[in-house]
Amino acid sequence: MKVGIIGTGYVGLPTGVGLAELGNTVVCVDKIKEKIDDLKAGKLTIYEDGLAELFAKNTANGRLTFTTSMRKAIEGADLVLIAVGTPPHPVTHEADLKYIYAAATELAEYLTDYTVIATKSTVPVGTGDNIEQLITSKNKMARFDVISLPEFLREGFAVHDFFNPDRIVVGTNSEKAANLIKELYKPFEGKTNMLFVSRRSSETIKYASNAFLAMKIHYINEIANFCEKSGADVSEVAKGMGLDNRIGNRFLNAGIGFGGSCFPKDTMAMAFMGRMAGTPIELIEATIAGNNKRKEQMAERVLKAVKDIPNAKIAVWGLAFKDGTDDCRQSPAMDIIAELLAHKADIVAYDPKAMGTACQLLGDKIAYADDMYSAAKDADVLVILTEWKEFSGADLSGLAQLMRNKKILDFRNMLNPKEAIKFGFEYQCIGKTVE
Ligand code: NAD
Repeated sequence: MKVGIIGTGYVGLPTGVGLAELGNTVVCVDKIKEKIDDLKAGKLTIYEDGLAELFAKNTANGRLTFTTSMRKAIEGADLVLIAVGTPPHPVTHEADLKYIYAAATELAEYLTDYTVIATKSTVPVGTGDNIEQLITSKNKMARFDVISLPEFLREGFAVHDFFNPDRIVVGTNSEKAANLIKELYKPFEGKTNMLFVSRRSSETIKYASNAFLAMKIHYINEIANFCEKSGADVSEVAKGMGLDNRIGNRFLNAGIGFGGSCFPKDTMAMAFMGRMAGTPIELIEATIAGNNKRKEQMAERVLKAVKDIPNAKIAVWGLAFKDGTDDCRQSPAMDIIAELLAHKADIVAYDPKAMGTACQLLGDKIAYADDMYSAAKDADVLVILTEWKEFSGADLSGLAQLMRNKKILDFRNMLNPKEAIKFGFEYQCIGKTVE
């Protein structure tokens, strides 16, 4: 099958690589020329575990190509995936669909034979209807179906999730389009759930799912606050809760609040849709407000830890919004750092993968270290903000020698509290008091 993918970002690129690996001919188009130049030159533009090998293999065998020409991606395609960004509108916080409608307008003129146009981007209910009308108005002869094919991959696990999806949701009433998608995902037959629903249900499933997961994170963070007051340990509580199949153990790690390119914007977009529909979704509204407060609380804890130290140096481990990715978009670590900078903090940071992306956002407002120990050298407090595995294996004895003041704020519960105390650290973590 020939597949055209519009948008070569965190979704479009792994999806393109995955579909090429399944044997399809994939043409990825992006309007950012530098991105396409890099990809054409064999240079990956994002970090994802396992992506490099499959990218190299499928570009070498010619099944995966890159272009800035919309015509090359669309002409003759059986399937077009729209994977452009849907950022929050700066004022209303609803999903801003300008990239979606621009892509739909640009692709319309190149449609020749019957084509299925699928939105992989996360879009509000009714967007499929609008895309359909837009394309018809631009190209009266076009034969096509617009379907919703929401993406559920997790950044950091994009390749794994492409080949092992929990479910594939397809929103369409067209049998012809449904058959094409069945054909596309034939290699996954019997290995995953394929759910065919209406386009509007499919669009809602994506937002309702993300908002639910965000709520789960916020819930355990509130329970963590309670545990700190009540003498319980949130890790034990989460474990006990998670053993209940109805609850499940994922998204129950207490921390610094949810972030990333999806949860913040998708909760805001879902809340907006609820309000517009005259049925505000109070749980989501509370989740958004509570998550914002969470990051402020974390910054306050850091400021409190250094308040009596003149010219305190703060070491930060972790900048990406979670481990396994270089993505710093809406990273809670970034928000906490911004709050600290507003208080003139002196920060040195290290992240195993996200130094480049963080530097694009923060520039020289903070200093960057080559490794985790260099970041901690002469620091007065070490703050752990992203759950990279390598942090949990830190040499605490060495760290104790390096730091000026031995204070650790382990906001991801990565270290062994007893060990930290043994090496003389003043140690705080999330959701339990450490003596
Ligand atoms: P991204 O910003 O990484 O990539 C989007 C790409 O689209 C950019 O490279 C941009 O240049 C390109 N683009 C925009 N308009 C274009 C046009 N007219 N023609 C060609 N290229 C164009 O975004 P992303 O993180 O991949 O997210 C894309 C969509 O997928 C969003 O709606 C997002 O909510 C959704 N989603 C993201 C994830 C994730 O983990 N990132 C997961 C599930 C769903």
